[in-house]
Amino acid sequence: MGIPTDIEIASAASLRPPVEIAGRLGIPPQFVEPYGRSVAKIDLACLTAPGQPTQQRAKYVVISAVTPTPLGEGKTTTAVGLADGLARIGRNVAVTLRQPSMGPTFGIKGGAAGGGYSQVVPMDKLNLHLTGDFHAITAAHNLLAAIVDNHLHHGNQLQIDPHNITWRRVLDVNDRALRNLVVGLGSKVDGVPRQSGFDITAASEVMVLLSLATSLEDLRERLRRIVIGYSYAGRPITADDLGAAGAMAVILQDALNPNLLQTLEGTPALIHCGPFGNIATGNSSIVADLVATRRADIVLTEAGFGADMGCERFMNVKCRVSGLRPDAAVLVVTIRALKTHSGRFDVKAGKPLPPEMLEENPDDVRAGLPNLIKHIEIVNTFGVSPVVAINAFPSDHASEHQVVIDAAERLGIDVAVTRHVAEGGAGAEALAEALLKALDRPTNFRFTYELDAPLVDKIDAVARKVYGAEGIDVLPAAASALAAYEKLGFGALPVVIAKTHLSVSSDPKLLGAPTGWRLPVREVRAAAGAGYVYAICGEMRTMPGLSSHPNAERIDLTPDGAIIGLS
Ligand code: ADP
Ligand code: MG
Repeated sequence: MGIPTDIEIASAASLRPPVEIAGRLGIPPQFVEPYGRSVAKIDLACLTAPGQPTQQRAKYVVISAVTPTPLGEGKTTTAVGLADGLARIGRNVAVTLRQPSMGPTFGIKGGAAGGGYSQVVPMDKLNLHLTGDFHAITAAHNLLAAIVDNHLHHGNQLQIDPHNITWRRVLDVNDRALRNLVVGLGSKVDGVPRQSGFDITAASEVMVLLSLATSLEDLRERLRRIVIGYSYAGRPITADDLGAAGAMAVILQDALNPNLLQTLEGTPALIHCGPFGNIATGNSSIVADLVATRRADIVLTEAGFGADMGCERFMNVKCRVSGLRPDAAVLVVTIRALKTHSGRFDVKAGKPLPPEMLEENPDDVRAGLPNLIKHIEIVNTFGVSPVVAINAFPSDHASEHQVVIDAAERLGIDVAVTRHVAEGGAGAEALAEALLKALDRPTNFRFTYELDAPLVDKIDAVARKVYGAEGIDVLPAAASALAAYEKLGFGALPVVIAKTHLSVSSDPKLLGAPTGWRLPVREVRAAAGAGYVYAICGEMRTMPGLSSHPNAERIDLTPDGAIIGLS
């Protein structure tokens, strides 16, 4: 018998009924809507019903990381393991996470329910359809697309310019063949031919819009404001102009309720929404955090990729909308990530680590430290001081951990080695103690920019203050879009910078803590419904492809219905 796989560990778990898990957060049964035996939706009425808590009581903690390798450095496992570690030492805790997309589940990365003894269960449901939220988002998004094409077909009263329609279609699958296509082919009754394409559902504006909505009314308002394209005269055409927002809200009504699952050790886990980490926010929903922070002592939430990416959007976008403020941050670091930042190794998704990388070599770890220090500085710019979590892998060496411990201690930062993947919550108790110490310290929260600054200044502020760029170079197409957006009234929105997650800079090849570079702003787009403007500063894929041997080839059912190969 080797080490059990994630699905073997998850399948062996005995799950508690959702009403009992909700009870741990003091959520009364009338707000718990079971979806099968081990998953429930939490009715958002629990935020407003008489007698229910209306104020935040929890300490709120964001889980971030250094610049990751393409394999991921363990934010999800750490969030889950740390939640169990805190529960073991008597804290009432909840963890809030994104729902994985089925595209990567069947692609290279595999599922995203944690790993080893730090998993959210039922992991098969989590990595597959769960309660159908992604399907509802797909349906709402594509209904709007159908209404747009129908409007063109029936005379185009709004004078929509078919060459300037930005609303595409979405599907939750990695399928490169759908990236670019022509819709409306056939005869006159088959619609108006035009170029379009599909994005993955995680990249849908409806996905990120749902994650940022604070209530059903707010969801309806944001849906109304979605811009699908422009008229011949350059006027933005909204979902409201097309009369689509109400029907979309109806499709999404249940999807706005967060999903309650549990960790292997029975800690409540709210899983909700899964916006892309490159062009969108990469953060789970606001409503799940509102539910959890009114009930638990401590709420842990994961922000995608490194601190330059998901954590920056967590602070400047998510917290700005929700009104919640973090009390601490956890920065996950791995020996494999720091060794990668030494520049000596090439780590690729779907491939085993180079064998030389597994040898004991504290010097390679030391060579990667500037990346960790840069991420500590990034978290500090928000007035929050991080706790460093060294996520221990079986291939690590104590001398390598010591390099990171020494570096953190020199900077006066709390640090702990965490072994939750191998040991469950017990392996995260040291990290839990370190976090409790950090939570006793005051924070001095601040945003990177104020909303009334011009859009270009907001992009510049993130580039300089967060990434450490020398400045930004706005290309002509981006400059004219920025000027147009200011005129159209989008100027007061926050910004999202769409760039690579494999470097703090916009060049994936620049490792460590790059200096002396400028951020090229090639293109700017508005997600007016979700409520931000995003600047495209690199190659951005919104519909992934599959590799030559995707995970799908290894996933199967046994004759008695057990799933194998899901990881
Ligand atoms: P992130 O959330 O930062 O992308 P995950 O928590 O999903 O990272 O972890 C990425 C991958 O690495 C997953 O396959 C996970 O099971 C694995 N992993 C994470 N931490 C460990 C660890 N300590 N030991 C072994 N595997 C790990
Ligand atoms: Mg993750």
